[in-house]
Amino acid sequence: MKSNCNLRYIATILCLVLIQACTSKEEVSVEDSIDPKVVLVTLDGLRWQELFSGADPSLINHTEYVSDTAKLKALFWRDNPQSRRQVLMPFMWKTIGLEGQLYGNRVFGNHVNLTNNQWFSYPGYSEILCGFADDNRINSNDKINNENTTVLEYVHNQAGFQGKVAAFASWDVFPYIINEMRSGIPVNAGYEDVVDPYTEEEKLINQLQHQTPKLWESVRLDGFTHQLAMSHLVNHRSKLLYIAYGETDDFAHEGKYDEYLKAARRTDDLLSQLWKTLQSDPFYKDQTTLLITTDHGRGVQPIDQWRHHGKSNIPRSDEVWIAAIGPKIASKGEINTIQQLYSNQIAATIAKILGFDYPEERAGKDLLMFLQP
Ligand SMILES: [Zn+2]
Repeated sequence: MKSNCNLRYIATILCLVLIQACTSKEEVSVEDSIDPKVVLVTLDGLRWQELFSGADPSLINHTEYVSDTAKLKALFWRDNPQSRRQVLMPFMWKTIGLEGQLYGNRVFGNHVNLTNNQWFSYPGYSEILCGFADDNRINSNDKINNENTTVLEYVHNQAGFQGKVAAFASWDVFPYIINEMRSGIPVNAGYEDVVDPYTEEEKLINQLQHQTPKLWESVRLDGFTHQLAMSHLVNHRSKLLYIAYGETDDFAHEGKYDEYLKAARRTDDLLSQLWKTLQSDPFYKDQTTLLITTDHGRGVQPIDQWRHHGKSNIPRSDEVWIAAIGPKIASKGEINTIQQLYSNQIAATIAKILGFDYPEERAGKDLLMFLQP
């Protein structure tokens, strides 16, 4: 009995030594064993002007667009653009500005543009997601299923990615842009409930989004979209998740510059919470790249043009931006060199980060030579 115990003791020690050896081996090869994930986020129609310079001096004092200029200035006015942008979007500047990269500050000649010839939402999102413009077929915001394949669908069709791709959007046209029916990718958009809610939070949001005022018929408030996306992220282990926020564009169209700025500030908080959640979950931590962009810009002059966008009547509303942060993204902050990038490069970039060469010939080239030099 005693020798039996000794043998067991020795066997246990041997096992522990082996486990320890295996664990240290794993620790050494963590860098090689990274299992990449991507979260793509779009902020509808947020101008590069506000992202890179904060509140616009010609608009923050404008009583036509701001109900209480003193209050808004207390919130968002600072004497220089660097302080203004930090107070408007602190996550963008204190986290991505230090650890990631931001493209599109035209003050430095750093340009990001759309390649589509429409400069409104469906064509903008389709260009981002498919990697190319299709002006002949995609020229309205109507609820028409996209005949083109998005990078979401391409990735979803790869081995190991079924059920690992999902989209959450405030605007109810996204199920058509992503072609939910053909692609099989779950797209929760507009005021759509979560089918088979998984958590108490999802059940609650299914109720709340119908119990609160609807500001817009086709766009729900971003907080609902965000909470559903976060719940999915935590409970369903996504490898590619797309979140499309919408409030910035709708408040701008209404001519409410104060609400537009406040929406930008809230969205920045949502991004911050998203990044904190990713970085505190071992499944995502140090393995997830966050890409953020917008579907179009807005006008500049004459002054009322900031509200709208569109190729036909709003010049310069094809001016956009891209931000990125992640395990292999170099910490270069704001890019201040002369350069021209396009929204059609994002799809190939997503595919490349996940380990695929995007086969769509019309797509722009991936951005990894800039993001991961
Ligand atoms: Zn719009």
